[in-house]
Order: sequence, then C-alpha cells, then structure tokens
Amino acid sequence: MPFLELRPFGVTDAGKVRQNNEDALLVGEGEDETLFVVADGIGGFEAGEVASSLAVAVLKELRPDGSFKAAIAEANRRILAAGHGDEKLSGMGTTVVAIRFGGTQREPTAEVAHVGDSRAYLVRGGEMNPITEDHSLVAELVRSGDLTRDQAAEHPQKNLITRALGADENVDVDTTVLPIEAGDRVLLCSDGLSDMVPEARISEISLNSSEDPERAARSLLAAALDAGGNDNITVIVVDVKEQAPPPRRVRRRREGHPGTSEIQAVEPSVRPQDGRTSPRASPSSTQGSARRHPKTVRSKRRNGFRWALSKLVRGLAIMLFLAIALIPAYLWGSSRYFFAFDGGDVVAYQGLPYAPLGIELNREWRRPGIKESEIKDPYREPIENHKFYTESQAEKVLGDLGS
Ligand code: MN
Repeated sequence: MPFLELRPFGVTDAGKVRQNNEDALLVGEGEDETLFVVADGIGGFEAGEVASSLAVAVLKELRPDGSFKAAIAEANRRILAAGHGDEKLSGMGTTVVAIRFGGTQREPTAEVAHVGDSRAYLVRGGEMNPITEDHSLVAELVRSGDLTRDQAAEHPQKNLITRALGADENVDVDTTVLPIEAGDRVLLCSDGLSDMVPEARISEISLNSSEDPERAARSLLAAALDAGGNDNITVIVVDVKEQAPPPRRVRRRREGHPGTSEIQAVEPSVRPQDGRTSPRASPSSTQGSARRHPKTVRSKRRNGFRWALSKLVRGLAIMLFLAIALIPAYLWGSSRYFFAFDGGDVVAYQGLPYAPLGIELNREWRRPGIKESEIKDPYREPIENHKFYTESQAEKVLGDLGS
C-alpha cells in the first residue's frame, strides 16, 4: 500500500464587480498541513472580510487531533464577539467549507465540514460528485420538491443561506468522512464559482485539466471571470497522488526528489516527529493567495472506527435535517432586512421573504408611508427582488427611498 501525497493549489479573486474580496482561504499553512479551507464572508462595508478571515484564523490553529466542530464553534464565537463590540461589524457572518486528510495508510480518509453554501466536490473515476449539500433556502426548496435544480440556479434568492458562522450562538456544522484513494481530486469553492459556472462545466474543467491542480484551479477561476465574475471567487484544488518511490526512512527528508525538488525547496512535505518546522509564511502569487506544495497524508491519527461512527451520525443528521434547518433560517434571517410592496405601500421587513411549512420568517419592521409610485427608480428592482440589507443599510435606504 503506497503512501499518499497531497498536491494542492488555491486561488482567490475579487471578481469583476465587487471592490473587496470577502472570501478567505487556507491552503495547508495551518497547524494541520492537510487542512484546506474556503470561507465566504457576508456583511456590509468590510465586515464580510473580517468574518471570513476570523474563521480561517481559528481553523489555522486546529491541530490534527482537534475537533472540526469545536474549531468551527470557536470561530463562530469569535465572529459574534467581534460583532458585539463594533456596530460596523454587527450582523457579519461567513460560510465555511473545510477538508482535512487522515485515516490510516491502509484506509486513508478525508473529513469534510461545512456551514453555508461554499462547496466541496470529489472528482474520481472520470466524474465529479458533490460532497456537501448547500445550507441555502433554494437547496432546501429543491430537497422538499418545491423547486427544480434549474429553477434554483436562476432564483433571485439563490444566495440566501440558512446557516452561517456569526448568525447565532449555536452553529450547526455538517461533517462527513469519506475514503480517499490515489487519483482523487478534491475541489473546494465559494459560490462565486458555483453560481457563475454551471456544474457540468465545472466538472468538465476539473476532469480535463488532469495532473495539474494549478491549471485546474486557474481554469475554473477563468471560467467564473468569463461568465461575469459577479462575486468573489475562490477555488482550491487538492490532488491525491501516490507517493513515488517510498523508502520509509528517506520519506522524512525528500530534498532532491526528482520531479518535486523545486516544490520541496519551498516547503517540506512532512513534519518531523518531534514537532513542526513548516514555514508559516508562504509565497503568494499575483492572485493574492495561491500556494503550492506537496504534503503527505498523515497516517497515525484516525482509524476505521471513526469512519463507521460518522456514517451513523450522518444518517441521523439527514433525518433531522428539515426540522433543524428552519430554526437557523429564522435566526440568520432576523439580522436581514428587505423591502416589499403591500397594497401600493412600501413596507420594510425584518427576516426572510418566505414562509416554508407555514412558519413566518419575517415581521413588519417599518412602514414609511411612501407609495409604490413615489419610489425612486434605482430602488424599484431591489424592492421587487427582495434584496437584502443589514439594519444600517436598510435605514439608509429608508431615508433615500422616496422622490
Ligand atoms: Mn460569495
């Protein structure tokens, strides 16, 4: 049974429309070198950037034997705490999708955790399949049969997520463990890719740029930019390779290994037994956050038991999904504001413009006494589409709405 090696490449880009990049990523520079993270921040001004960076900063400290759920819960607490102390940051949140590799040499595994609509895909045997299910309203409506997948992709509220870090004291994290084999490719991305590029096209690019994670990641980014680049785009591609000649004793110092020497010079692939020497600072590319270095799958820390247990937990999680999903939908929605027309009047609501299963997810917040006919043109379309605002943004809109 060969040892496995990871070849990752990550890239992030603000896109063509947004001024800021509120996405953040971690490409193996943390305490756990096999950990990769994408976080997509939400919030006015620069709050989204703060939230996603906080999530990545906390996960960077996650040790290989630490709990994903505990780390994500800690990130959630830190984001909430930062929001409480600062009006500008209040209401900020972030998605997170993270993968780390482990298991045993005989049964290598990857553990995936996510909250929100940033995604993980597995490319294996000539096809690409999703590892994560979005925590978004449209994804829930697809699961309940109220929307088709195609309708969901076109839906004006497709960006509305039902779970996020920073939304509530408790965060509900989905985790799953999957067996990994040589030849696998894992893709993590923010919705700046998955909303702009059809899944079939993402799959095609991921399959056709074989052998080179950098080429795959850059091609996916280019496809999202070509499609308009309406949002920040983040892509991490991790290739799982069989490690070439594996004499065990030599494995721990592979300087000069043919084919990987250039990369090895940048960053050692394996940490020594007594501690960590991996450099923290990694070279950045012109894209801001692109890195590349091979890593060896750690073989000591997890076993098959954990995999079996996680299957059971996942089964229970699916059974409870619908019931649980509605609660965070409300809590997250309560920090959102939108406008609608009600009998010719403009009304501002707090919450979400939905009532799935008969539960109202919004309440009337303000009724400024402005008629639909008096609305300034630029506000008409956002009101019809129930565009979301933070409280302070909604206040501003209220003050400027009428002609
Ligand atoms: Mn996004």
